[in-house]
This record gives sequence, C-alpha cells and structure tokens, in this order.
Amino acid sequence: MALEIIAGCVNCWACVTLCPHQAIIEAQPHFLIDPLRCTECVDAHATPQCAAICPVEGVIVNELGDPLNPPGSLSPPARFG
Ligand code: SF4
Ligand code: SF4
Repeated sequence: MALEIIAGCVNCWACVTLCPHQAIIEAQPHFLIDPLRCTECVDAHATPQCAAICPVEGVIVNELGDPLNPPGSLSPPARFG
C-alpha cells in the first residue's frame, strides 16, 4: 500500500518534510515515493500528508492510478456574473 508521485510534480519539496516515514525521495525528473516506506499515512494521520500539502493537481496517485487531488480540486471555485 503506497502512493506514487507521477509526472507533473514540480519538485517543490513541500511534501518531503511532512512525510512521517521519510518516504519521499528527491529525484529527477520528479520526486518519488519509496513504496516500501509509504503507509499512505494510515498509521500516523487522518489523511495522506503529501497529498494534503501538494500544490499541484493530479501528481500524487493511489495504487489504482487515481489522483488524490484530481483536476479542479485545488482550483478556486468558479465565479459567475
Ligand atoms: S502518503 Fe504519507 S507516508 Fe506515504 S509518501 Fe505521503 S506523506 Fe509519506
Ligand atoms: S508537494 Fe507535490 S509538487 Fe511538491 S514535491 Fe511533493 S509531489 Fe512534487
């Protein structure tokens, strides 16, 4: 059970210090999650900390490939009128 960082990560370091298991690895072209260390935070926090802080939509996915911050989830609400 582990999350994955995929293309689109901007290597901003925001998630690195929040990870309770030091599972996020600096790498190129983008950071990676060590699947042997990541617990999806279930043992430490109510929500995955990396996804909670990540400012980019769609770059942290679960084992099914589903983004934790899907497109539109971090965008401000649309304003009409
Ligand atoms: S889900 Fe939690 S344990 Fe896994 S990489 Fe993100 S912060 Fe670390
Ligand atoms: S917070 Fe998001 S964009 Fe920043 S390094 Fe982590 S996965 Fe990449």
